[in-house]
Amino acid sequence: MGLEFNGVPAPAEGSAIDYKGEKFIVPDRAIIPYIEGDGTGRDIWKAARRVFDAAVEKVFRGKRRIVWYEVFAGEKAFKRFGEWLPQGTLDAIKEFRVAIKGPLTTPVGGGIRSLNVALRQLLNLYACWRPVKYIPGVPSPVRHPERMNIVIFRENTEDVYAGIEWREGSAQAKRLIDFVNAMLSVDGAKKRVRTDSGIGIKPISVTGTNQLVRRGLRFALDQGLKTVTLVHKGNIMKFTEGSFRDWGYQLAKEEFRGAIVTERESWILDQRDKNPAASIEAIAARVEPGLDMAPGAFRLQVETEVKACLDSIRATHGNGKWKGKVMVNDRIADSMLQQILTRADEYQVLCTPNLNGDYLSDACAAQIGGLGLAPGGNIGDGYGVFEATHGTAPKYADQDVVNPGALIRSGALMFEFIGWPEVGVLIERALAATIAEHRVTYDLERLMRMEGITGAEKLGTSAFADAIIENMSEKAVASG
Ligand code: NAP
Repeated sequence: MGLEFNGVPAPAEGSAIDYKGEKFIVPDRAIIPYIEGDGTGRDIWKAARRVFDAAVEKVFRGKRRIVWYEVFAGEKAFKRFGEWLPQGTLDAIKEFRVAIKGPLTTPVGGGIRSLNVALRQLLNLYACWRPVKYIPGVPSPVRHPERMNIVIFRENTEDVYAGIEWREGSAQAKRLIDFVNAMLSVDGAKKRVRTDSGIGIKPISVTGTNQLVRRGLRFALDQGLKTVTLVHKGNIMKFTEGSFRDWGYQLAKEEFRGAIVTERESWILDQRDKNPAASIEAIAARVEPGLDMAPGAFRLQVETEVKACLDSIRATHGNGKWKGKVMVNDRIADSMLQQILTRADEYQVLCTPNLNGDYLSDACAAQIGGLGLAPGGNIGDGYGVFEATHGTAPKYADQDVVNPGALIRSGALMFEFIGWPEVGVLIERALAATIAEHRVTYDLERLMRMEGITGAEKLGTSAFADAIIENMSEKAVASG
C-alpha cells in the first residue's frame, strides 16, 4: 500500500526526493507537498503553480515534472480536521523533504503551534535563505537599487527567537532575577537586574553558528562569489553575537582554509607583499592603527597574530594569491544597515544571527521593491520549505488581485535548491520580462504611477501569471 498522510494518499504517479552524500536525488516525477495558504494564499498558489508547471515543461519538455501533493495547515486544516497543524502534514514534509507554502493566518488568541517553528524543530531548518536582487523597472525608494544583489543567510533556530522568556511579575521571572542578582553579580550593583523586568534569554551556540556559516560559505564557493560577511553586534553582546563572529571566522579557517582569506589576514599579507623586508612589529603597526600607544600585552597579541598568519598561509595565500580567495569579513549590524544604503554592491553573502537577519532582510527587500517580490526558504541539510515572506492580506482574498511574485520567486529558489537551476532561472527571467513590459499587479502599478510611470497595464493575479508564462520564450529557455 502507498503512503498516506492526513488520510489522503500520496500520488501514485510520483516518488519522493532523496538526499545522499549532501546532494538531492530528484526523480523525474518528483512529489512536492504544498500548503495552499489562507486568504490570498489561495489566489497566489493557483497562479504560482501554473508558472512552475509551465517552466518545468519548457525546460524538460515532458521528461520531468512535479507531482504536487496537497497537505494541510491553517484554516483549511482546521475546517477539515479540527486542527490547525495536523501531524500528517509535518510527517509528509519530512517524508518528501522539500515543500512550498502560501501564507497562513495566525489565529488570534494564541495557543496554536506555529508551522514554521514545528518544521524548524523537526527538520532542523537552521537557515532562512533570502536572496535580494533587483528586478529592473520595479519602483524603488533608492537611487541605485540595481546595486543590491545580496543573499542573506539568517540563523533560524536560536537567539531571542528561541522563545525562552518570562513576563514581568511572573514567578519564573522573579526566580531568575533573584538568582541573577544573588548569585551572578560580579560587579555589584552594576550587574543587577531591576526586579520589575520581563526576562528573555538569548542563546547563540557553536552548533547553530557553525551550520549557518558553513552554509553561507559553501553557497559563496558554489556560486563563485567573492565575499561573505558576518553581521553581528559583538561590540555590545560579546558572548553571544561576538562569539558568533569569532566562531564564524574559526569555522571558515578550519573548514575552508584553502579557499578563503579573512579581511584581517588580507591586510597582513598585503603589507608583506608590498614590503617583503618589513618586520613583524611594523606590519602589526600598519594593521592595527594606534598600536604604539596600546598596552604591551595587546601589542604582543597583535604581533603574535601577524606572525602566525604569515607562518601559516604566506606560502598559499601570499604574493597576491589571497586576492583570488573568498574574503570573509565582519560588520557591526548598525553599520551594515547603513552600508546596504550607501555601498550595497560591496556585499554578496551575509550570515547573520536571527534578529539581525530579520531586520536586515526586510530593509534590503524594501530597497528592491518591497515584500510583494521577496522570496524566502527555510533550509537545512536535506530539507527545505519555501514561502513568500508576506502574510495572507485577507482583505484581498479570492479577488484575484494580489501579486503572486514573492511565491513565484520562492518557487524559483526551490528549483535551484533541488538542483534544477535552469527552471529557477527561466522563472526569474520571465518575471523580469513581464515587469519590464509594465504588465503588473495593482501594487506595482500603484508604485509605478507614484513614480510618474504612466500607462502600466494593471493585471489580476492569474493574468499576471499568464503574462509570465507567455514570456517563457524559446530564447529565454535556450539562454537559461
Ligand atoms: P500582510 O498579509 O503581509 O498584508 C499587509 C499588506 O501588504 C497588504 O494589505 C498589502 O498592502 C500588502 N501585501 C501583502 N501581500 C501582498 C501581495 N501578495 N501582493 C500585493 N500586496 C501585498 O500582513 P498582515 O495584514 O499584517 O497579516 C495578515 C495575516 O497574515 C495575519 O494573520 C498574519 O499573522 C499572517 N502572516 C502570515 C505569514 C506567513 O504565513 N508566512 C507572514 C506574515 C503574516 P496594501 O493593502 O497596501 O495593498
